[in-house]
Amino acid sequence: MSEELRITPRAEDFSAWYNDVIMRAELADYSPVRGCMVIRPHGYRIWELMQGALDGMFKETGHENAYFPLFIPESFLAKEAEHVEGFAPQTAVVTHGGGKELEEPLVVRPTSETIIYGMLAKWVQSYRDLPVLLNQWANIVRWEMRTRLFLRTTEFLWQEGHTAHATQQEAEEETLLILALYRRFMEEWMALPVLTGLKTESEKFAGAVRTYACEGLMQDNKALQAGTSHFLGQNFAKAFGTQFQTQDGKLDYVWSSSWGVSTRLIGGLIMTHSDDVGLVAPPRLAPIQVAIVPIWRNDDQKSLVLEAARAHEAALSGAGLRVRVDDREGMKPGAKYFDWEARGVPVRLEVGPRDVESQQAVLARRTGGKSPVSAAELVGQVTTALDEIQAALLEAARQRREENTVRNVTKEQLTELMAGAGGFAFGGYCGDEVCETAIQQETKATVRVLPDEEFRSEKTPSKCVWCGKKSVAEAVWARAY
Ligand SMILES: [Zn+2]
Repeated sequence: MSEELRITPRAEDFSAWYNDVIMRAELADYSPVRGCMVIRPHGYRIWELMQGALDGMFKETGHENAYFPLFIPESFLAKEAEHVEGFAPQTAVVTHGGGKELEEPLVVRPTSETIIYGMLAKWVQSYRDLPVLLNQWANIVRWEMRTRLFLRTTEFLWQEGHTAHATQQEAEEETLLILALYRRFMEEWMALPVLTGLKTESEKFAGAVRTYACEGLMQDNKALQAGTSHFLGQNFAKAFGTQFQTQDGKLDYVWSSSWGVSTRLIGGLIMTHSDDVGLVAPPRLAPIQVAIVPIWRNDDQKSLVLEAARAHEAALSGAGLRVRVDDREGMKPGAKYFDWEARGVPVRLEVGPRDVESQQAVLARRTGGKSPVSAAELVGQVTTALDEIQAALLEAARQRREENTVRNVTKEQLTELMAGAGGFAFGGYCGDEVCETAIQQETKATVRVLPDEEFRSEKTPSKCVWCGKKSVAEAVWARAY
C-alpha cells in the first residue's frame, strides 16, 4: 500500500493525474518491456466484471466463444490488401522458433480476421452452416510508439467478435446490433454516455466497408473511441475463399462483421468518473462495492465492532454484493477511509461502538454524503445507495458532455475550441478528405463519427464547416486519445 502517494490534481496536469490514479488504486503498473503493462488484481477485477457483463450480452444474442491461435502466418495478413497496409507497420513478427529460422515468419495477432475467415473457408459449405456468430477473448499485440496505461499498450486484452452471414442485410444488422449492445454496456455498466455513428473513410478499420463507433468524452474534453463494430462486406471472404452454397444452389461469398472492445475501456472508466482523491468506480463494475471500516479504541470495543462488521458483511454478501471488512491493525480509520476512496469503493460503512449499541452503521458515499442506516434495513439501503450512485454518475457524465458540446460550429469556433477547451464540435462536412486532413493538421481534431440520427442536430448544417461547400453529413470533431 502506498498511502503517501500524492495524486496530481486534474487541473494541474491531467495526464499525470491519470497515471497517479492508476498507481494509487493499484490498477496497473509499468512492465520491464517498454509499452507493455501489468494489470494488477484491482484492475483485473474490473476487467473480469466487464467481461462477465459483455459475455452475458453476447451469449444472449446467440454468440459463442472460441479460441484461435496467437500466431498467424505472415502470408495470411497479406491476403487482404487494405488490411495488411493498415496493420503491417504495427506487427510483431516471429522469425525463429526452437532455435531455428522458421520457413514462414509468424505474425503475433494484431486482430484475428485473417485466421478466422481462413478457418471459416473450411467450416462453411452451405447456407445451412450460417450464420456463424463467434467471439474470442484474447490478447493482442500492436507495436505502439507512444503508450499510455490501458489506453494504448503494445499488448492489450480484448474481445473480438467475428460473424459470417448469408446476406448483406443480415451482416449489416449484426454490425448495428453490436453497436447498440456496446452502447448499452457503456451506459448501463460503465455509466459512460457515448455518441454512436459512422467513421469516415480515413478513420475506418483497415479492410472494412464501414466502421461504426462509440465515442465518449473524457474529463479533459478529449474523445475516447470506446468500441468499434465493422461491416466487412465480402472483403475477407473473397480474400480467403469463404464461399457457401446458397439456397438456390449457387455459390456466394459470406458477408461478415467484426467488432471489439478492449482493456482501453478501463482507461475510459477512470477518465470519465474519477476525481483528485482517486478512482471513482461505477458500482456495477467496482471490484469492492462496500468497504466496512470497524472503529475501535480498545480490545473490548474491537471484538464488539468486528462482530457487527462481520454480520453486516454476511448480510451484504448474501445479497450478492462485493464486500470487504477492513480489520487492518495499526491504521487509523481516517487513513482507511482515504485508502478506500482512492481505490474507488462506492460505499463505505463505518461501524463504531455507539453504532453497534444503536444497531446502525454510517453509510458514506464515495461521491459525497454521509447518513446513518439501521442494521435491519442495511441491505436495502446499501443497494439503493449503489443504484443511485450508478445513475448519478451516468447523469453527471451526460451533463458534462452536453455542457462541452457545441453545435453548428463555424471554422473560427472549431479552431478556437480545439486550441482551448476542447469537447465535441458538431458541424457540416462536405465529405472531402482534403477538408478532413486540413482540419486535423490545423486543429489536431479528427472526425469522431458522422453521428447516428438520435445525436444529430435538429437542423442539419447546410455548409461544410471548413470549405463552405455543400455539407453532405453532420460530423462530430474532437481531439482524441
Ligand atoms: Zn469541406
